[in-house]
Amino acid sequence: METGAATERVETYRMRRWSVRNARLLKSLYSVLEWILVLCNPLLRLIGYERLDKPFVKAESLAKGFLLDSQNCGQCIVGFTGLSCPMNCPKKMRNGPCGGVRADGHCEVKPGMPCVWVLAWEGNQRLREEEIPLQVVQPPVDHRLIGRSAWLREVRIRVGSGSHAV
Ligand code: SF4
Repeated sequence: METGAATERVETYRMRRWSVRNARLLKSLYSVLEWILVLCNPLLRLIGYERLDKPFVKAESLAKGFLLDSQNCGQCIVGFTGLSCPMNCPKKMRNGPCGGVRADGHCEVKPGMPCVWVLAWEGNQRLREEEIPLQVVQPPVDHRLIGRSAWLREVRIRVGSGSHAV
C-alpha cells in the first residue's frame, strides 16, 4: 500500500516535470481555450455562470489535476509560474521559494518532491522571451475562491463582468 502511494507520487512529480518542460505548448493551448470561452460568453451568461461552476470545476480537476497536479485554488496563476502549481508548495508560497530549497532542487519539507519554484523557474525559461510572468507579484490566496472554477473566473475578468467573481 505504502509502495503504491510512493509510486503514485513519483508518477505525479514526473507529470509535473513534463508539464513545465512543455509550458509554452500548454500555455498556448490554454489561450485557445480561453479565447473560445470568451467568445461563448453570451451563451455562458444565458446558462448561468453559477450553474456552470460545478461542471467546469470537474473538467478543470481532470485536465489540470492530471497535467499539473492542480489543487483547485480557483485563482489559477500557473500562467505566471511556468505551469508549476504553487499550491503544491507545503508552505503555499505564491511569490517565490522559501529559504529552504535543497541543493538538489528538492523541497525542504518533502525531500522527495521537486520544489515547485525550481520547476516554476524551469517552466518560465520555456515561455516566450517577451514574457516575464514570474516577476509579476501575486496577491494572497482568496479562500472564498478555493474549489471554484478558475477558467470561468478568467472569462468573467476578460469580459469585464465580475473581476472578483466569488
Ligand atoms: S522548498 Fe519550495 S516547495 Fe518546499 S516549502 Fe520551500 S518553496 Fe515550498
